[in-house]
Amino acid sequence: MRKKAGTLAALAALAGLIFLCQAGSGFLRKELGDAQEMSGKASGRENRLIIIDPGHGGLDAGKVGVNGKEEKEINLNISLKIQKLLKEQGVKVIMTRTEDERLADNQVEDLKARVTVMNKEKPDLAVSIHQNSYHEESVSGAQVFYYTDSGQSERAASVIQEALRETDPENTKKPKGNNTYYILKKTEAPVVIVECGFLSNYEEAEKLADGEYQQELAETVVKGIMEYLEGE
Ligand SMILES: [Zn+2]
Repeated sequence: MRKKAGTLAALAALAGLIFLCQAGSGFLRKELGDAQEMSGKASGRENRLIIIDPGHGGLDAGKVGVNGKEEKEINLNISLKIQKLLKEQGVKVIMTRTEDERLADNQVEDLKARVTVMNKEKPDLAVSIHQNSYHEESVSGAQVFYYTDSGQSERAASVIQEALRETDPENTKKPKGNNTYYILKKTEAPVVIVECGFLSNYEEAEKLADGEYQQELAETVVKGIMEYLEGE
């Protein structure tokens, strides 16, 4: 009898403890939720969505540098760094790819698949990451392309290009309008293509393959994206 009473008391104490723990964690969850909501509201970033589109992948290497480095890999590395930095800023990010893969069996279908993602998700801005190449080795410097018929795309290109110029004052390239590139033409949301540099220039090709330089580029592009979002 005495043993039973003891067991009952222990059970009651245990039930009380479980109740307190649940109430406590519920309180903690609410506090955390409120804090997240407040920081989101203060920055106005809680509903911001950016799509990052690392060009090429899988069988499609993109351009191949004079140093043998492939565009697809450089695109992905820079894009993953951009994704991380944007998330730290409280911005939602969707990637068209996070692996070394093509989105379809051929290049046309691959581009269509990327545009399908962009048109379905309706981001504030889509940023396609590529590397450039030219028949003259001396040409270098990052350049941003926008869709000629979109004022938002043009504005995004100009703030990102400006950020790139601040990081590298020697780069005097201007944002360039285009109305024939498939991604620019078919994406309904504002979209830009960032050509981060020239793989045909040996010095730049070497830098583009370097992790630290990729990080610097990612920070610069994110600075531009944040400025674009703030001005919306
Ligand atoms: Zn490319």
